[in-house]
Order: sequence, then structure tokens, then C-alpha cells
Amino acid sequence: MFTKKGILIVISGPSGAGKGTICKELLKKHNLHLSISATTRTPREGEVHGENYFFLSREEFLNKVEENDFIEYAEVYGNLYGTPKSGVQQMLDDGKDVILEIDIQGALKVKDNVSDGVFIFILPPSMEELKQRIIKRGSETPESLMTRFKSAYQEINYVSKYNYAVVNDTVESAVEKIESILVAEKCRVDRMKEKILDSKEGLIHDQLYD
Ligand code: 5GP
Repeated sequence: MFTKKGILIVISGPSGAGKGTICKELLKKHNLHLSISATTRTPREGEVHGENYFFLSREEFLNKVEENDFIEYAEVYGNLYGTPKSGVQQMLDDGKDVILEIDIQGALKVKDNVSDGVFIFILPPSMEELKQRIIKRGSETPESLMTRFKSAYQEINYVSKYNYAVVNDTVESAVEKIESILVAEKCRVDRMKEKILDSKEGLIHDQLYD
């Protein structure tokens, strides 16, 4: 789908597993770039247009769908969410590593099109802990809490479609695990081929390709 230089890292998992906090921490510590999604959801207190999301009306969103502006989009709990194509494409072309923090339906759509993306599933340490985290967030009504919790149960089955599963027992250890995944991914021969071929190190080249 893309001509890529940077790595596309897709972080997803059920609501309340802690994807957002983990991504924030990764972005603080590393030279990674978060794709800002578009959504039809109303902003929560403190959320800023263009920083947390591009908040669009349903009509504006559907126009963008028509114009094929999204890499993927999905309806999540009654609202539409989509990953804008152009921003991500540009960052990858510039050699930047890009994080998509998206739901499972969206991640699976991306996986169909971007075979060399890195797909990471964030798991809660337990279902009880997941419930407590969703409650603590305080932004849900009792109904939406139940909906999120029930779908989390089902969504966990999709872990087998991902490349990596990271249990979010503490943010620190989850971030460490993802850092290790990224180091390993960067060392994969299929990602390094071009660099190795470009280098003047004939010996390395011969060992890998002869
Ligand atoms: P929230 O409304 O709590 O910010 O997000 C709800 C869900 O939508 C989360 O699971 C979040 O990861 C997901 N989400 C955010 N942006 C996107 C996107 O661009 N595409 C898809 N498919 N899901 C998204």
C-alpha cells in the first residue's frame, strides 16, 4: 500500500487496557510520531481539536470516507473513528516511525493492507482490573460501561491476529516490552536490506546474501 521507510506501529486492544497511557509514555521517551485520528465523538473535557482528535461532524467524516481519505475507519460505540491517510503516508516517507492507537476492527483492516506493520495488542492484567480502569476513567454512563466491558471480553479473542501481545501490568514494564519489540523489529533483515546494500561493508553484504 505504501512506499515505506519508517515503521508503522499499530497499538490496539480493548477499551481500558491502557493503550493511551502507554502511547503517551512512548512518545515522551522516543522519536515516534502519533497519527491524529478523526472522530465524530464529542470532545471530552480538556480535549483539543487537532491534538487529541480531529473532531468532525458525521457529514464531514462521511465526505472524507467518500474521498478515500482514510487508511481505515470504524464505528466504535456509536461514533466513527478514522486514520487520515495523507499524514501517515508523509511521515513514513520521511522515514519517521508512526504509531496508530486504534481499535481492533481498524487494526485488522490496516493489517490487510500493510503487511510489514508491527501489530501490538495490549492486554489488561485481568478482567477485573480492566473493569476498574474503565470505571475510574469516569467518562462512561453505566450503560456505556457495560457495553465497553462486554465487548472487551470478546475483543480479547483477536489477540491471535497480532504479532505481539503486551500485558499492561504496569505502564513502565509495558513500555519496556514495546521498546524491546521495536529494537528487534529494527534489526530484522528484511527491514535492513536496503541499508546493508547501501553500505560499503562488503563483508556484511556477502555474509547475508551469498
Ligand atoms: P475514545 O473515544 O475512548 O478516545 O476511543 C474509543 C476507541 O476508538 C479506542 O479503542 C481508540 O483506540 C479507538 N480509536 C481512536 N482512533 C481511532 C481510529 O482512527 N480508528 C479506529 N479504528 N479506532 C480508533
